[in-house]
Order: sequence, then C-alpha cells, then structure tokens
Amino acid sequence: MRFAAIISSLLATAATAQPPAQAPDRWHQEAREIYREAVNTPTVQGRGQVPALAEALARRFRAAGFTDVTIHPYDVVRPDDHTAALIVRWPAAHPSGRKAMLLMAHMDVVEARREDWSRDPFELGEADGYFYGRGTGDDKMGVIAITTALLRLKAEGFQPDRDIIVLFTGDEETGGRGAELAANQWLDTSQIDFALNGDAGGGAFDESGHLLGFGIQTSEKIYQDYTLTATNPGGHSSRPRPDNAIYALAHTLDRLEQYRFAPMQNETTRAYFAHRATTADPALAALIRRWLANPDDGAAADAIEASPTETGLTRTRCVATRLAGGHANNALPQLATANVNCRIFPGVDPATVLATLREIGAPDHVSVEPVEVAHPSGPSPLRPDVVGAFTAAVHARHPGAAIVPDMSAGATDGLYFRVRGVPVYGVEGSWIVTPIDERAHGRDERLPVRAFDEDLDHWTDMIRRLAR
Ligand SMILES: [Zn+2]
Repeated sequence: MRFAAIISSLLATAATAQPPAQAPDRWHQEAREIYREAVNTPTVQGRGQVPALAEALARRFRAAGFTDVTIHPYDVVRPDDHTAALIVRWPAAHPSGRKAMLLMAHMDVVEARREDWSRDPFELGEADGYFYGRGTGDDKMGVIAITTALLRLKAEGFQPDRDIIVLFTGDEETGGRGAELAANQWLDTSQIDFALNGDAGGGAFDESGHLLGFGIQTSEKIYQDYTLTATNPGGHSSRPRPDNAIYALAHTLDRLEQYRFAPMQNETTRAYFAHRATTADPALAALIRRWLANPDDGAAADAIEASPTETGLTRTRCVATRLAGGHANNALPQLATANVNCRIFPGVDPATVLATLREIGAPDHVSVEPVEVAHPSGPSPLRPDVVGAFTAAVHARHPGAAIVPDMSAGATDGLYFRVRGVPVYGVEGSWIVTPIDERAHGRDERLPVRAFDEDLDHWTDMIRRLAR
C-alpha cells in the first residue's frame, strides 16, 4: 500500500521536467548498493526469499555497530511459506525518559512476471532518471531509506535520546502477520511512543513539474470480512419451493448494493478535504466545500463518494466479493453464501456494522457472521512533534510544499499498532509524477532517482529531529 489518496486524487496533464539528480555522495552511493541488493532479491510470497534479504540487512546493521539485531522467522499462510521479520534496537545514549520511536517498512513485494514487464523486474535498472524494478517504490524504498539513515547517523556519532526500534516485516502484501506478531509478541507496545511508517505518505508532482503536495498518513480504515449465509431444506428442482436459498441471498445482496452507511469526517479527512477543495475541479470542489460547511449534508457526501478519486473516503463501505451456492444442477439449493468485505471508518465499532448487515439480511432470514473479529482503531492524532518533523524534512527540499493529512481506504502494517494504541504516521519523503509513475503492484514499477536521493536525507532529518 503506498501513495494512496494524495496520488489517486491529484491528477494533471502536460510534459514532465524534473531537474537532474546530483552526483551521489558516500551515503547515497551505499544506499544504491543496498537498494540493488534488495530489489534483486525476489521477496514474493511463496518464493522464500525474505529471510535472505533480512540476513543481508542484518549483516549491514551489525557491521555498522548495532548489537541488538534479531531475525524472527515466521510463516505467512501455509506452514511451508517461510518469511521473516527484522528487528533492530538502538538504545538511547542519553535517555530523556521519552518512550521509543518505531520505524517500520516491509521487505516483501507483490509478484511480477518477466513476460509482463519490459525488463527484468528483479534486476534494479536505471534509465531516463528512474530506478526500475519490483519494489523500487513499494516498499524497498522505505526499507532502504530507514536502513541508510540509521547507518549514517550511527557513523556520524549521533546519540539518540530515546530508543529507536526498526521493524521490517515480510508479509505486508499478503497477510500482515508479521506486524500482528510484532505488535502483540515481539515488541512491548506500551513502551512505544509512536511509529513512523515508510509504506505510506509521500509526494506527487504533476506532469508539468508542479508539486501537488506531500501526504502524511494518519488513519486507515479497518478491514473486516463477513459471511452471509442462506439455508433452506432444499428438494427436487422439478418442484420449486416458494423459498430458495440462492434467491434469499440474492435479494439480500441487492439491498446491500443499495445501502449507504452514514457519511463521517474526522480530523484527518477534514484536513484532506480542505486541501482537496483547492485542487479539485470546480464541481467537486463545490461539493466538498458544501460538505465541510455542513457535515450533515448527506447528498453532498454521496456525490463526493461517487467521484472515483474520493471513493471510500467519506464513510464505511461494504461490498460483496465472493459467492457460492447449491450442490447439484437438479436440486434446490440448501446453502448459499457470500463474502462481504467491509472497510470500516476509523473509530466506528465493527459491532455496529455487523448489526446493520444483519438488519439487511433479516427479511430473507440470511445470517451474518464476522470472519474474524476486528479490533477498532481510531485515527492517530495530528501530533505537533511528528507533523512538525515531517513538514520540516519536506520543506528542507521543497519549501512551502502543501502537507496533506491522509486516510488510506486500504490497510498497511500500521493498523496492528494503531489497534494497540500506538499512533502511526505514514511519512515517506519520496515522490512520483502522477499519474505516469503510479505503478506500485503493476508493470514496470519505478521511482525517480531524485526522489530516491531526497528520501534518504528526508528520513535522516526526521529521525535526528525526533530523537534528540
Ligand atoms: Zn506497501
């Protein structure tokens, strides 16, 4: 998950013109070597390569003088699906009494096939001012920026006044189990003040070289699946009964399609939409201003939600994603089921969503059960220290850039820490040109070389500012 709302919502046209990157110094050179090593390791689920990358990174941390470096092996879905997480602790040199700062990113990537790409996705390439390869953006950039920043700060003799903990997980794209284990077993979340996530946030230029802004992700919707089940005594299909499990389920799904949860706003989405009102086309901007002026204006919120760039940002959304039913062509169905996937607005109790779905199913006696019980997580507050450090780091390279709080409609590893009460901030400092560089999870994923270099300094600046 990367470059979510800000990218998808800030579209533009015309030709690109970025200033050329500067010649890399020692740290930027070393970062390129680690980046190459990381991209060239195909850390896709099922290929068993994440532990190799974790080992390679661990070696670099140890060589730089970090003594508390641990690799946690774990399985993703099947027991033979080995992956690993890396945890590095840098204890405070001069304890200030402040709790630890967690820096997180993920080492795994989405599958990429050679025949789908115009080049080898697992061989870092450089052309036309871009780095190419699977994970160049999502999320090996985050891994390399955090790693290089710590190696550099250590070499420069930086003395943190709080513990710094690094967590690189190995299954963000497929399971999020590493983050769940880290938040519940490997780390003591009561000792963590906040987390910075390299898997969210980031900036966007339009194709004419105009900077649209940098997002700071403070909020994620909660992922929750529900099973809808219709049962029936069934019988011979030559003698149809008035009631039928497939029809009952279909009628319920029909009502679900029409249903809309109540629109909602929070601190993050209000700030996001306030900025959006200055960048959207006039019709959408007018709707946004109407809704911000009157949060009870449901018609305005519905119209905003219907705009493809804003879908999922105004409320809880539920949608049918799988369907099964019946057992023979010549038998009345005894069972029909559907999976309904909900993305719950932060702060909403999943029990209220369950109650609503049960109401929708009740007229047809369709039962509704959660697949796993979700834990509600609120949006992280816009803390002045974190927002200030992010803003200063962005403005060091892009003076005056708009800083836009962002709620992801999807979920990242950060969710498991928010659930445990740890505020999490997506604070990437790299950027892309939109829409031409929006290739995360897709073909010919790439990142501007200049964005790579800037992100290394961005993370170094933020860590320095927040740990002294
Ligand atoms: Zn990601």
